[in-house]
Amino acid sequence: MSIRLYDSMAREKRAFEPQDPNRVTMYVCGPTVYNRAHIGNFRPVIVFDTLFRLLRSAYGDDAVIYARNFTDIDDKIITASQETGESIEAITKKYAEIYSEDAAAVNALQPTIMPWATDHVGDMLSLIENLERKGYAYATDAGVFFNVPQMDEYGRLSKRNLDDNQAGARVDVDLGKRDAADFALWKFAKPDEPEDAIWDSKWGRGRPGWHIECSAMIAKHLGKTIDIHGGGVDLQFPHHENEIAQSECAHGQTMANFWMHNGFLDMGGEKMSKSLGNVVLLNDLLGDWDGEVIRFAMLSGHYRAPLDWTTDLLEQAKTTLSRIYGAMRRVWEVEGGEATDRGVLDALSDDLNTPIALAELSRLAGEANGAADRKDEAAMAEARANLLAAGALLGLLTKTPAEWEQGGDSDEKARIDALVAARVQARADKNWAEADRLRDELAAEGIEIMDSADGATWRRV
Ligand code: AMP
Ligand code: ZN
Repeated sequence: MSIRLYDSMAREKRAFEPQDPNRVTMYVCGPTVYNRAHIGNFRPVIVFDTLFRLLRSAYGDDAVIYARNFTDIDDKIITASQETGESIEAITKKYAEIYSEDAAAVNALQPTIMPWATDHVGDMLSLIENLERKGYAYATDAGVFFNVPQMDEYGRLSKRNLDDNQAGARVDVDLGKRDAADFALWKFAKPDEPEDAIWDSKWGRGRPGWHIECSAMIAKHLGKTIDIHGGGVDLQFPHHENEIAQSECAHGQTMANFWMHNGFLDMGGEKMSKSLGNVVLLNDLLGDWDGEVIRFAMLSGHYRAPLDWTTDLLEQAKTTLSRIYGAMRRVWEVEGGEATDRGVLDALSDDLNTPIALAELSRLAGEANGAADRKDEAAMAEARANLLAAGALLGLLTKTPAEWEQGGDSDEKARIDALVAARVQARADKNWAEADRLRDELAAEGIEIMDSADGATWRRV
């Protein structure tokens, strides 16, 4: 089955055909790095990582070039720097590192390229000059702006026309804009701004607007037309619309052949967002839940639909994943099988239908249990291979069953390890009463000890 993806521009599912199957290009707008990201910010990370995995399986690991930027210059970053006294670089490097660690904890592969906006200011300035030369950009006392009415097709992605945009808006007199819809390509530095937020340009000292960052980094690293451009649905307007305006007016060709947008992660019936205050940080969740449980919960809804984030969702994800790992344990020792099942692959190939893909993963677990019940070694080996291959596509089942069973948070694991070690010592001391007491204490928590010649291991039962 070929891959079909919903294209927000065409508003329909279309067969995905890359321009060059040896160089499939995908760009996803990355984070502005000045604080810890909430779990809603990781929805695009997990969704587009799953797409990355699917594309790699179809075209080859080295044939897919996935770029996700770091926005390391922005009003909010400047404010954070002024408030804390830390340099912009110190702030952005710190939060980018935390973001990358969090992404790795939910099994997101590293994108092929992670460009930093501030490394590309020269490329942005060239792009702005190009737009000015072609009559799309003009300078005011506040900066350089893109003149939206110059572009006939503005609003194609979000299906807004200029009149909608302007309804209720007034031309910002202070900025000297010609039209209310015009947006900043370059913002002149204000008197109190830190030096590390200022670059020279032929128009005056300042810094780039947000939208031009993506346009410049995409053209530089991926090309003038890319295969897939992704991000959260809130980026469709104005961010992606403005990226399209800049890139297409400068280059005279389509910016992206597919536009993909994930729906919101909600909490308490509203979009999770910092401004509403209904946020949960991934970093905090990782203290209580395995990264795979969080990923499973995220993938349990279709990416385009809103998903309500609840403890119940996480509990269910954990229960199902435990059942799947339990099945995997029963076939774990029988290696050498070949993965032949296409259930998960086909579900993902249909516009990343992860709810069905997860149901298919459970079906494979059922097959593993059936094969183990029948003691059918060939079927057990095949079930094991199918589970691992399907898991690799979804970014799940990356642990051994033993690792999963011992999982939970590391403090908890350390506590149990200490009790097991104490029991080994009690036995070495021939203190049988203490050894039995410790065994019973652990059994009461559902932990079984398996003694062996060189010590003891344990698992949850
Ligand atoms: P931001 O740092 O706000 O630009 O967001 C980074 C990415 O997370 C963007 O792709 C947003 O669309 C996405 N995002 C932010 N909040 C949510 C949410 N509640 N649900 C899903 N995606 C979100
Ligand atoms: Zn962008």
